[in-house]
Amino acid sequence: MWILISPWFLKWFTPKNISGITIFPFIILDKNSLRNDKTFINHELIHIYQQMELFILLFIIFYYLEYLYRLLQYKNADKAYRNISFEREAYANESNYDYLKTRKWFSFIKYW
Ligand SMILES: [Zn+2]
Repeated sequence: MWILISPWFLKWFTPKNISGITIFPFIILDKNSLRNDKTFINHELIHIYQQMELFILLFIIFYYLEYLYRLLQYKNADKAYRNISFEREAYANESNYDYLKTRKWFSFIKYW
């Protein structure tokens, strides 16, 4: 896993107000200070594991399909994003720094 700092990438290729994105094997951040944010990095590392399990491309497909589904469900972009199974797992466990040591494969399914 490599951490890259690229504000322009996030500005041009992601929705507004995103400070980081994970595209295996990279975690792309908008500023260097986030590199030391243990909780933020742990959140992105959980996405690295999810992406490995789904060979990256399937992760991207499922992520956006579930986003569209949640958008229809909640009719609110932020609420839809927060309720994607992958995000639910990451937010629920981002402060547990030992989570990835004990996490079982495909754990995001439990967060559907
Ligand atoms: Zn996330």
